[in-house]
Amino acid sequence: MTPEMALLKGLPASKAGLYGLPCIGARYTGPGARDCERTQAWCAVCGRPAANCHHVVPLSVRRRFGLATPGGTVRLRSPLFALCGSGTRGCHGAFHAGRVRARWLWDSEEDERLWWSGELVARYGPHSPELYRHGRWEIADSRTGRASVVREGV
Ligand SMILES: [Zn+2]
Ligand SMILES: [Zn+2]
Repeated sequence: MTPEMALLKGLPASKAGLYGLPCIGARYTGPGARDCERTQAWCAVCGRPAANCHHVVPLSVRRRFGLATPGGTVRLRSPLFALCGSGTRGCHGAFHAGRVRARWLWDSEEDERLWWSGELVARYGPHSPELYRHGRWEIADSRTGRASVVREGV
């Protein structure tokens, strides 16, 4: 699997490559896209009390993305972030309005290749904190001009 092949499934690689990445302060509790809960009390962006879970890839885009791994295709879900506010207020509202953006940065081309080949998912499982051994989140907040790096779990 390469990013170019991901485009064939109708998603840009920038979105397809997010499925299965680590959650921040939230986790899945069941098989559904909405089966989730917060695991930390504070917002992943600003530190105020978190109110709910945000799907980094909006549910309206695609609920799952199938990544081919050495053991077969794994249908991955969006990462989740614990955020303050709601769909229109606070950091959750700012994410939906595009004023806060998150992107995942792989440490090297080799790490990225290992992801698209499915080897990292096969090794660690989806959303594993072990993925921070290979990359990190960068969260840019245009409201404050701050960009923070999240690299937990190692
Ligand atoms: Zn917040
Ligand atoms: Zn949301």
